[in-house]
Amino acid sequence: MKLSANAIQLLEARYFLKNTEGRIVESPEQLFRRVAKHIASVEEDKDFWENRFYNLMAHLHFLPNSPTLMNAGLPNGQLSACFVLPVEDSLEGIFSTLKDMALIHQSGGGTGYNFSKLRPQGDRVSASGGTSSGPLAFIKVYDTATEQVRQGGKRRGANMGILNVDHPDIEAFITAKSKGDELQNFNLSVGILDDFMRAVQNDETWNLINPRNNKVTKTIRAKELWDLIISQAWATGDPGLIFLDTINKHNPLPKLGKIQSTNPCGEVPLFEYESCNLGSLNLSKMVKHENGIWQVDWKTLEHCVQVSMRFLDNVISANHYLLSQIETATKNNRKVGLGLMGWAELLAILEIPYASDKAVEMGEKIMRFIQAKSYETSEALAKERGAFPNWEESVFSPKTPLRNATCNSIAPTGSISVIADTSYSIEPFYALAYKRVGILENETQLEINPVFVSKMKKLGLWNESLKNEVLSTGSIQHLVTLPSEVRKLFETSLEIPWQYHLQHQRAFQKYTDNAVSKTINLSHETDTDTISEIYRTAWEYGLKGITVYRDGSKANQVLQACQLN
Ligand code: ADP
Repeated sequence: MKLSANAIQLLEARYFLKNTEGRIVESPEQLFRRVAKHIASVEEDKDFWENRFYNLMAHLHFLPNSPTLMNAGLPNGQLSACFVLPVEDSLEGIFSTLKDMALIHQSGGGTGYNFSKLRPQGDRVSASGGTSSGPLAFIKVYDTATEQVRQGGKRRGANMGILNVDHPDIEAFITAKSKGDELQNFNLSVGILDDFMRAVQNDETWNLINPRNNKVTKTIRAKELWDLIISQAWATGDPGLIFLDTINKHNPLPKLGKIQSTNPCGEVPLFEYESCNLGSLNLSKMVKHENGIWQVDWKTLEHCVQVSMRFLDNVISANHYLLSQIETATKNNRKVGLGLMGWAELLAILEIPYASDKAVEMGEKIMRFIQAKSYETSEALAKERGAFPNWEESVFSPKTPLRNATCNSIAPTGSISVIADTSYSIEPFYALAYKRVGILENETQLEINPVFVSKMKKLGLWNESLKNEVLSTGSIQHLVTLPSEVRKLFETSLEIPWQYHLQHQRAFQKYTDNAVSKTINLSHETDTDTISEIYRTAWEYGLKGITVYRDGSKANQVLQACQLN
């Protein structure tokens, strides 16, 4: 098995089993064997499926989310990445969820919550005769706890904190990260309602409402609140937006109520106590060289979708659940999220520039195919194993029995794309030379994009001076002697107009029943009007959420374009 040096380093740091002295006792083959064996343990024909699952992972065609790779086969192995927990308006509720959060983080999972049920700061607390601290104070408590639990776990915990746009404390929430170094373990998103977007468009007033008694506490100009969101997103990257009405328009189980939150990176809207396990196909491997050109290998892709969907459905049965509420909610709906990584790499192999209509069309075509095959597989699994228990309550009843209430989800693949040695999720290449900071703590390995190198070699353009140029700038756009098609093909994230970032997100969201996690990366010079246009367009496009990041606007950046000077 051929893994990159970065992959091995990451596996050694966090994934391989270690003995009591901390010595690694596992090889990559043994890791994938351990996972395959455990996930196949719920099958009748265990050996057959173990081998299929093993091959799927060993070829790096598909990888499940990190907790599955880390914990499968271990006693009480918790395998899911995504959870949503309730935050009730009582001290008891707040702190019981805090405890659940700590357990989930310790196991490698991430948690999302909507804090909008909490009464605002300064509101009456009848039990004590005192006043409430408000949602923000409790978000800080959760953040601090996350910071401490992280030391025991394998990676730092991740949270999504949502506050609805009509909550009285919304202004404090929007500005919560204004100093830049606060709430580092939280992504913050404003829960947006369609009525608010219309109020902004028509420059109308907007009511803030106390959730305790439904009384209006304040009436403001919607546009003022919008401008505050935009200026903060410009300055710090937070808050993002979660479009709650759009999410609920596509909720497959509306009879169970409204969905109020997503997991930390936004790709899975979930009911309270639901969890979801994810997995990602590696598109850079779904290619074949035929008649002198590289093409998508649809047959391999179809096969991989089928085996991956079965894998993910098995995870629900083979999982160890930390709480009985999570087990019940998860097993009733059996949500899974099959997504992908290596999109930019696939495009480069096919010689299609990311910033082109052809790429956007190809994105739709690929995701439409993955979704269709995922649903076919879920239907076949329902025939074999029965539909998910809440199926009769779902929008699929009475026509189509399905094994899973949702099938697809596009995760950031922050770690598993390093293991698979490909580009993140549906993101464009961040830079042609970069170091991955934060993924491999303390390490700042310099990488030059291997697809770029091999392309340059094939064209006879690779030489020491090009290498040095790329190492010092991470880009080739300034090298005007290079053919323009080559430069266009290797445009990087900040060089790609935001319109194309958003069009890719829309293309994939169109055929993703859950959501798409994507960061719209922007140059440092981007102004607030542009951010406003991006956020508004995201809503008009029917996206479920939106996140921007303006280069240099926050201290902690996961990927940094390399700067040697
Ligand atoms: P990976 O590549 O490790 O499988 P992703 O970057 O695709 O993970 O993230 C998928 C989901 O996993 C996130 O949305 C979040 O729910 C969870 N997650 C990611 N990173 C962390 C973390 N450091 N701690 C806890 N949960 C995380």
